[in-house]
Amino acid sequence: MDSVIPVIMEFVGNENGRLVLVMKCPACENELLKISVAGVNVLACEGGCGSYWFDTLQIKRLMERLPGAGASLLKTVRRADGVKTFRNNQHICPKCQSTLLYRHCFSRELEMEVDQCSKCGGWWVDVGTLATLESRYSTEADRKQAAEDYFITVFQNKVANMNRVNHDTLEAAQTIVEIFTFLTPPIYLPQKLPIKDY
Ligand SMILES: [Zn+2]
Ligand SMILES: [Zn+2]
Repeated sequence: MDSVIPVIMEFVGNENGRLVLVMKCPACENELLKISVAGVNVLACEGGCGSYWFDTLQIKRLMERLPGAGASLLKTVRRADGVKTFRNNQHICPKCQSTLLYRHCFSRELEMEVDQCSKCGGWWVDVGTLATLESRYSTEADRKQAAEDYFITVFQNKVANMNRVNHDTLEAAQTIVEIFTFLTPPIYLPQKLPIKDY
């Protein structure tokens, strides 16, 4: 059978006699690992840049979960030091292979980036420094302060400035808030979430 297998999607595994399709991280090309948290299946860049991939069904599921339900991912997924993530490049959708991800939210300082595929609707999420709160600070007060600063940048400076008149952008902004709400331990979440108050 003639078929074209895209470069970064390869058949590498063998599960019960079936070939397994492996998706690779759009930022560092590490193989993504499927992790299930609170009934939400996440593809995680374990041992690479530590980012996450959610398809649209999983996004719907995480929206139904309590705040922080997915917070264990921040500890589970190991971020390797010195991984090159090609921040200046646009990333190709790890699922569609043919589409460039649209960058909704980005901070170089926080190493944070949230992109979406316009074709399959999947989300690529790199929470950046949020995942390093535990390891970087020794006191809870310092962690809370760092989290507060983080969310001022993400929610007030980035998400709140996304175009709310455009329905698609507003929906994307709401989804980003939901994703961060799912991934963040509740003690580090701001009391007021921006989009919820629109
Ligand atoms: Zn990666
Ligand atoms: Zn896609």
